[in-house]
Amino acid sequence: MRMFDSVASMRTAIRAARQEGHTIGFVPTMGALHDGHLSLARRARTECDFVVMSVFVNPTQFGPGEDFARYPRQLNRDSAMAQKVGVHAVFAPPPDAMYPAGAQTVVSVPGVSARWEGAARPTHFAGVATVCAKLFSIVEPDRVYMGLKDLQQVRVLQRMATDLILPLKIIPCETVREPDGLAMSSRNAYLSEVERTGARVLYQALAACEHEFRAGERSVSALEAVLQRVLAGEPLARPDYATVVDAVTLEPIDTVEAQAAAIVAVRVGATRLIDNLLFGPN
Ligand code: AMP
Repeated sequence: MRMFDSVASMRTAIRAARQEGHTIGFVPTMGALHDGHLSLARRARTECDFVVMSVFVNPTQFGPGEDFARYPRQLNRDSAMAQKVGVHAVFAPPPDAMYPAGAQTVVSVPGVSARWEGAARPTHFAGVATVCAKLFSIVEPDRVYMGLKDLQQVRVLQRMATDLILPLKIIPCETVREPDGLAMSSRNAYLSEVERTGARVLYQALAACEHEFRAGERSVSALEAVLQRVLAGEPLARPDYATVVDAVTLEPIDTVEAQAAAIVAVRVGATRLIDNLLFGPN
């Protein structure tokens, strides 16, 4: 596995891979890798000839007062893990390589960014879309592997790829969970032991909601009531939102008639966690 920290050296390696006729799979991350990230890399490895993972804690997707400064940075450990799953190249640029002095350009995808995470974190998705547009221009991937754990992020980037006519496909991948259901996340490391136990409530609420759907419930207000009831049972959990939306547009719905997503954002102590579960008539 090779490590790259400059745009020029990464581009040279990409050009060489292309010249050999290789397809390029790309897994963008902020590092602090866990099995969720590795599942994306493993899938990329089975579907692409040359797999690139980026490790970049992107400053522009953090709002003021968020955890940019204390976000875990552990590149040596991350690269050893990436190598184990067969990643061919890790791209870990310094911030000034991604944001040249005087940088002004912002990519925003206002519609699908507006609600939920975008409402709670107003500059977040523009930061994500901007850095991904840059990364896609450097790595020139055929396929980009992204976790459904961050469902709205997947929808924002699918919209961006369509709108900018990018020659790549975003591949949404299943959420990897801990044995008790908690979605793996780099931010789970912030939880104290008692908070970690309390954090199980996110998946418990989603699972109860899906159970109710399978039992025939189609009314979103009834399904939402299930989410709220389960979350209310955990004293450490302070829900930000918990509802059921259209799985593609993420717009509110009254009745589940097509693919839907139960989505939750919950503060457990000082840590804000998100999760979702997709379900639908088929
Ligand atoms: P991050 O490093 O948090 O920016 O995440 C990088 C990629 O890993 C994103 O596409 C995430 O959606 C994905 N990811 C994060 N957690 C999980 C998980 N538990 N299961 C699957 N993918 C995940």
